[in-house]
Amino acid sequence: MNSLPTHLSDAVVQARTVLAQAEHVACLTGAGISAESGIPTFRDCQTGLWAHFDPEDLASAAGFRRNPPRVWQWYRDRWKNMQETAPNAGHRALVELAGWLPRFDIITQNVDDLHEKAGHDTVWHLHGELGRFRCLDCRRPYAPAPVELTQDTPPPCPRCQGLIRPDVVWFGEMLDPAVLERAYASSRACDVMLVVGTSGMVWPASDLPCAAQAHGACLIEVNPQSTLLSAGADICLPASAGQVLPLLCSQADDTAGPDRNIGPRISGDA
Ligand code: NAD
Ligand code: ZN
Repeated sequence: MNSLPTHLSDAVVQARTVLAQAEHVACLTGAGISAESGIPTFRDCQTGLWAHFDPEDLASAAGFRRNPPRVWQWYRDRWKNMQETAPNAGHRALVELAGWLPRFDIITQNVDDLHEKAGHDTVWHLHGELGRFRCLDCRRPYAPAPVELTQDTPPPCPRCQGLIRPDVVWFGEMLDPAVLERAYASSRACDVMLVVGTSGMVWPASDLPCAAQAHGACLIEVNPQSTLLSAGADICLPASAGQVLPLLCSQADDTAGPDRNIGPRISGDA
């Protein structure tokens, strides 16, 4: 921590003090936490072959109906990339923090599985998951056979012959109300909201930090860039998740680290 600029190390000390006293932390993550694992943000994904497509062509039910193979292949490639990707120091630090705190809920906008791979057993995915599939028409869940995940066209639904699609939230679609309600309940009840790697531009996820603050929570933001949430945050940690999150739980540097020893408890229910 000695090598950090003063404004950052002061903010780290403040954040550690707040976390050491917290009973319930809600942690909202976005694409930024996975960036250091090599998973690009939505617009960064649109490179090479995919660069000339409009996001709505690739991430909407209408775009999927217009060209099922194109959308299937785009998600298949993202899914394949995810299989080869490992969690980074930021994901791992959140698992460590969760082990110290009486309650720690992970709410993510990410469709990857890196929080789970790092060791969280309950993760609330606001925008669905790349590794989950369902029928576009009858909505029934579907588990593709490994060979189907290598093909260029989506498999047909065995019940209604509809198209199988990734179970992620596309433009124009509602979030799962049960997941959203849990996320709001956690945000309203927590005493600290830790927001990591999100631009705060996608609603309703962007409303959760406001809900938390409105109910008295301290808002800590981790993001190397200033965002829509930064001005209202109580503590800003302007650094990458992989750099700064380990400092929030590092016992080696004892400036103000959480001194709990209550054993791991990861993501309780709302
Ligand atoms: P965003 O792309 O709008 O914003 C990413 C934020 O992360 C930016 O503010 C950026 O400054 C910050 N960031 C970049 N590198 C960082 C790092 N190393 N540490 C901390 N912060 C870093 O992402 P969003 O707010 O999550 O919203 C975009 C939408 O894209 C979401 O709906 C999400 O579902 C989807 N998405 C998900 C994934 C994924 O699952 N990994 C990837 C791309 C997009
Ligand atoms: Zn069906």
